[in-house]
Amino acid sequence: MIKGYREKSYILLFAVCYLLFAVSGCSFRPYHKETRLMMGTFVEITCQDKAAINGAFEEIRKIEKLANKFDPISEISRLNKDGQVKASVDFIFLIKESLKYYGLTNGAFDITVSPLVDIWKQKIKEAEEKKSAFLLPDKNEIKDKLRLTGSDKIIINDAEQLIKFAQAGMSIDLGGIAKGYAVDKAVKRLKAQGINSALVNAGGNIYSLGRKGKRKWRIAIRNPRNPQKLIFYLDLENQAVATSGDYEQYFISGGKRYSHIINPKTGEPVDNGIVSVTIIAPDATTADALSTCVFVLGKEEGMNLIKKINHVEAKIITNDDISDNR
Ligand code: AMP
Ligand code: MG
Repeated sequence: MIKGYREKSYILLFAVCYLLFAVSGCSFRPYHKETRLMMGTFVEITCQDKAAINGAFEEIRKIEKLANKFDPISEISRLNKDGQVKASVDFIFLIKESLKYYGLTNGAFDITVSPLVDIWKQKIKEAEEKKSAFLLPDKNEIKDKLRLTGSDKIIINDAEQLIKFAQAGMSIDLGGIAKGYAVDKAVKRLKAQGINSALVNAGGNIYSLGRKGKRKWRIAIRNPRNPQKLIFYLDLENQAVATSGDYEQYFISGGKRYSHIINPKTGEPVDNGIVSVTIIAPDATTADALSTCVFVLGKEEGMNLIKKINHVEAKIITNDDISDNR
């Protein structure tokens, strides 16, 4: 009698568990999350297949190897040093995409601002190392470097797979687009390995592949001035999101905040009241490039650009929007 009752209880328990499993739609396979330091940031991949994660990181490594300005043998370094390079398909794609955004923004997105990015970064580094006041770069030095900018001076020879600069001394920086492209490459590799549920995040350049169980992937966007506080959530499925802000890489001197994004018209860090730009787009390359574009263009011009592009949304936070601004 007691034995029969126990058996019935087990059957009932099993049935309840089965029902819960079926209703939740969850597979019991756990998600693995792996983080590696790549492309100057933390890259995090979440999915249920550990081996597939390795494959995805390999793709990111490949893009890092060609777009890393600090690796003397990377394609970007050879182009910057020699003024020309025999380029890979990925490198040519990155340059062509960058030129597309240069055109769309009337020059606000300009990878040839590299010499200016370097002098501002150098000043920040010096101030940090010496723990001294931040000395602004010399106005004449900025003027000189500005003469080396203009993405219309990048020549692409498709037949010979050559990229050339039209002017000596030019250099490029792919920091505004390469992480997004690396994320897209990683996602492509995950899909090729049969993965249909994953999240790839390269320093805030995110792609949500499929769903996590029954639900969309939930991405929390934090208050740029107070990262403990969330300001909104995004629930995404097969979409990318990227945020450009003046809060991850910046320097404060004399009460003023200097961003790492350069206005190609002035040669100085962008100073238009924007704190962060979040772009939701069908792919991570678009989201990455557009977040930088809108940051440089400013709220009004930036929104005008976004309205012209299908399937893209922008959320802009300005100094006025957040109470504890600096
Ligand atoms: P992101 O964080 O994606 O907005 O990219 C910022 C990075 O893009 C900087 O650290 C620079 O490497 C690069 N960059 C800075 N200013 C520009 C610009 N006006 N156009 C394109 N890339 C830029
Ligand atoms: Mg960007």
